[in-house]
Amino acid sequence: MIEAVIGLEVHIELGTKTKMFCRCENRFGAKANTLTCPVCLGLPGALPRPNLEAVERVVRLALAVGAEVAPVLEFDRKHYFYPDLPKGYQISQSRTVLARGGAIQVGLRQIGLHHLHLEEDAGKLAHLGGRASVDLNRAGVPLVEIVSLPEMRSGAEARAFLEEIRLLAEHLAVAEVRMEEGVLRADLNVSVRQVGDPRLNPRTEVKNMNSFRALERAVAYEVARQSQALERGESLAQETRGWDDQAGQTYPQRRKETADDYRYLPEPDLPSYPVSAAWVADIASCLPPGPADLRQRFFAHGLSAETVAVILESRARSQLFEQTAALGADPVVVGQWIVGDLARVERESGESLADRAYAAADLADLIQRVATGSLAGPGAKRALELSYRDRRSVSAVVAEEGLSAISDEGALDPLIDQVLAAHPGAVQDLLAGQEKALGFLLGQLMRKSRSVDPKVAAKRIRERAQACNTGF
Ligand SMILES: [Zn+2]
Repeated sequence: MIEAVIGLEVHIELGTKTKMFCRCENRFGAKANTLTCPVCLGLPGALPRPNLEAVERVVRLALAVGAEVAPVLEFDRKHYFYPDLPKGYQISQSRTVLARGGAIQVGLRQIGLHHLHLEEDAGKLAHLGGRASVDLNRAGVPLVEIVSLPEMRSGAEARAFLEEIRLLAEHLAVAEVRMEEGVLRADLNVSVRQVGDPRLNPRTEVKNMNSFRALERAVAYEVARQSQALERGESLAQETRGWDDQAGQTYPQRRKETADDYRYLPEPDLPSYPVSAAWVADIASCLPPGPADLRQRFFAHGLSAETVAVILESRARSQLFEQTAALGADPVVVGQWIVGDLARVERESGESLADRAYAAADLADLIQRVATGSLAGPGAKRALELSYRDRRSVSAVVAEEGLSAISDEGALDPLIDQVLAAHPGAVQDLLAGQEKALGFLLGQLMRKSRSVDPKVAAKRIRERAQACNTGF
């Protein structure tokens, strides 16, 4: 029996305001080469200064996964030549990494981490109309690299590990992970061996995987390819391969460089900085809850696995859920509103919950009104939409738009009588026992007023129809 041995090197672009070693803005989508300066262009004589906010974000992540933070911050140069790397080297960490060890829980298994280190990103090449051009806006953007131990055994597990890292980055405010912008990328290391054999065969590295699905497929392809090679008695070589998403295949790129090829040397332009235990303890004392803690708390509230997954996707949703439940609303109902109508309103309005900062007090108010029957059905949905979109409180929207459920017979009867008078045929059908007619009349009533409480209205339509009939 053959088993897969999988390790990941995950890169996340940190969501800092500025770059790692200069004060250029760290922002995606700007015009090419507008966010640059002598430092990130690698001009002679320009000196780097480290970004403390980037260090703090990596320390947060390290603490959350139980890694040990080093007492010093040191940088090294990693040399390689590539057109998107103007200095000819990348400032990274090699002698001392920022944190060692730790683990991430994936399903029932703990996947160990080798270390986390800090480095700068390279620029980006674009190939347009037969010409290659370079955009250095990304050069110098801070990156954390999370290196796992080779402890994963399947593509599904590797995918789950990467998804958990995305959630960690989200909940610890390390980065806003938009996959399409390449904020999260993983290098996949995969080899195969006979089950029970402690030795590792040479591994393949597949670089720059930037989708969960592609990662899972690349593992499956490599495991099959390497297993077949072993069965044919071929020896495997350590190599770097690329991923062709359309073909669903990896292809050879180059024999893997070794650390010696990079000629690491201590970064001479940056001193060694102490990382004080008191500072790390400060960060630990206000560490936000990670996805594993939140998941447990949400399950304890009785939410379904699907609901938990949707709420956990965003820190803003998770906070809104907990704050609304803390105000006394039924957690299961809060969960239903967040994954149902609120997620829809987020999509339709084009403004994410993180940007909108919708108040828990409003969601709790809405849920309370529905529970007591003063808001119902479409009126409640409308109140959520309008309060979200127009930044008004639920109470203001309900009052100003007249959304209160009409369950009072005195208010309902005139509306019902108008509907009955306009549709005498349907009234006759209803009196003859055709239940379909009730749905029709209720629909007509809802067109007159969206805020009718449907339960009370249905009962009242029967009664009024009966009364009209005897009145004739
Ligand atoms: Zn710069």
